[in-house]
Amino acid sequence: MRARPGLSVRLLFHVPLLDTRMIMKEIRNFIDGAFVATGKTFEKRSPVDGQVIALVHEAGQAEVDAAVQAARAALKGPWGKLTVAERAELLYAVADGINRRFDEFLAAECADTGKPMSLARHIDIPRGAANFKVFADVVKNVPTEFFETPTPDGKGALNYAVRRPIGVVGVICPWNLPLLLMTWKVGPALACGNTVVVKPSEETPQTATLLGEVMNEVGVPKGVYNVVHGFGPQSAGEYVTTHPGVNAITFTGETRTGEVIMKAAAHGARPVSLEMGGKNPGIIFADCDFEAALEGTMRSVFANCGQVCLGTERLYVERPIFERFVEALKKSAENLKLGRPEDPETNLGPLISHEHRRKVLSYYEKAKALGATVVTGGGIPDMPPELAGGSWIQPTIWTGLGDDSPIAREEIFGPCTLIQPFDDEDEVIARANDTDYGLACSIWTKDLSRAHRVAGQIEAGLVWVNSWFLRDLRTPFGGMKQSGIGREGGVHSLEFYTELKNICVKL
Ligand code: NAD
Repeated sequence: MRARPGLSVRLLFHVPLLDTRMIMKEIRNFIDGAFVATGKTFEKRSPVDGQVIALVHEAGQAEVDAAVQAARAALKGPWGKLTVAERAELLYAVADGINRRFDEFLAAECADTGKPMSLARHIDIPRGAANFKVFADVVKNVPTEFFETPTPDGKGALNYAVRRPIGVVGVICPWNLPLLLMTWKVGPALACGNTVVVKPSEETPQTATLLGEVMNEVGVPKGVYNVVHGFGPQSAGEYVTTHPGVNAITFTGETRTGEVIMKAAAHGARPVSLEMGGKNPGIIFADCDFEAALEGTMRSVFANCGQVCLGTERLYVERPIFERFVEALKKSAENLKLGRPEDPETNLGPLISHEHRRKVLSYYEKAKALGATVVTGGGIPDMPPELAGGSWIQPTIWTGLGDDSPIAREEIFGPCTLIQPFDDEDEVIARANDTDYGLACSIWTKDLSRAHRVAGQIEAGLVWVNSWFLRDLRTPFGGMKQSGIGREGGVHSLEFYTELKNICVKL
């Protein structure tokens, strides 16, 4: 086993399959290229069995100050002097570095989240690497605005716009897709020449820290990428977002947290990019490819145990196929296999924590109390004794509640959905739009004209037709209404991570 700088102690566990020797037992902050202990630690528990898997060093104000200072210094150091092409080469090397240590990232992500390795192997870790490659390509190919401007003396002027980094970016991350969503911000931020102070979720500290090792290995200058661990209020999250040395804040998480962060960003009039909650509808017309709609909907409801911001917690099914669709979804849901991440048969892991399970279960109880028909699930599954300490939950489907119930209006963020029938196109568009959120929607139909008509009227940042979670990283990503502010992805990320400067030259 290779020694890891500053992190020599590994967990040796009795679990046979997930190679927990690969995960860190002590997780330190990564500041100015060094792993920093603080003496104040909190426990990270496995969602699979409730056991403590790591101790995390919580950053205080002093560590956040040091991280911001390192990031500011790096802007003026060798990092700030690199050409775009040189920066891009380093980011390709980061992507390669993630791929070289793929199994370690995989073990760390699955240990923290409990998600199936089959999922993380195909989505989380490859996307973590891709986020560096794609944005390195984007910045290398960004066009420059250029105008020839007439002047009274007839000699004219040239106007051209150049992009400059915005400075130190505070990156506040959630726990559901930790590496994927963190690198979705760090990739473009670094590609544009900024430096970052990342605050991963307290639930998922491993992969952000591991990435620090990769940054050192491939020669990213110290201070460019910093990680501080801790919680939100009166902890690392608040210290980063209120720090005057942070020039911009990009956030992914709950809408209520986003509101707090937006207020913090108001001090100093700093820009924010907010990717927040959703209550996404799925619309299934009777003329759809039934099997494709069923397969896509199974993923959109249950993937990652329902902990996907783009997931479908409201399903509208056209009346002629309503009963058949409910029955088919129930049958498929009951075939899902809950299990350990490393079991190749596992479709569904646990929720992230007992705290989150309490929240999801409160909606399960609420649905029953409101008179929902519980088509399947609705509680805690029986698990073998060795997994009884985990935060397992049953995949759940309801019918029989209306659009104004909290089950149809509030984000639950669990493996559950409410299915309702509809009768016509205008009706379903109105019902789908009757929400505070506007992140995503899936439409299933073979009628292409209708697909375009409906997609055009849905109030959401992303609309999929006959698919779900089909992503091209060059496209704009973000939410309408309370689901977000701003768009990231491809060249759209440049709008947030750079300042445009116009230079006017009189000839
Ligand atoms: P959360 O808002 O509880 O936490 C997100 C991050 O914010 C964590 O790192 C947390 O420590 C930090 N934080 C909390 N309070 C803070 C404060 N006062 N100041 C600074 N930082 C603070 O969200 P979560 O539970 O980790 O993630 C789940 C949520 O994320 C869901 O609502 C989901 O829809 C949303 N999400 C949205 C997207 C998207 O792209 N729109 C993607 C993934 C998740």
